Amino acid sequence: MTVYDRNNIFAKILRGEAPCTKVYEDEHVLAFNDINPKAPVHVLVIPKGEYVSIVDFTAKASAEAIAAFWRAVTKIADQLGVGSGFRVVSNHGPNGGQLVFHFHVHVTGRR
Ligand code: 5GP
Repeated sequence: MTVYDRNNIFAKILRGEAPCTKVYEDEHVLAFNDINPKAPVHVLVIPKGEYVSIVDFTAKASAEAIAAFWRAVTKIADQLGVGSGFRVVSNHGPNGGQLVFHFHVHVTGRR
């Protein structure tokens, strides 16, 4: 498993060192628009904790953090007007197409 790199772009966004268009935030989670959207709604949802990918998050995060993350995903889809139909994708590792090594899910849909 790759070691977490605190200089990844999503860590910088979490620290306020890089900009984002925020759509949702709570104690556990931040969500913002993807800079290169592939659908009318394309949001990235990230936990505030330091996890490299979905595998790392699932293995190490608390049950509370995992539940809060997935509850936020559905809440965000509702909030963005795609609650009746959306996709959730998470790329794990270079072989899975992961480019940013802070766990995130892509939530896509058509408004
Ligand atoms: P993945 O790691 O799942 O392949 O995808 C990373 C995603 O992050 C891509 O869809 C890319 O467009 C998005 N992304 C990369 N850098 C930034 C950034 O600085 N800001 C935002 N909002 N999205 C980014």
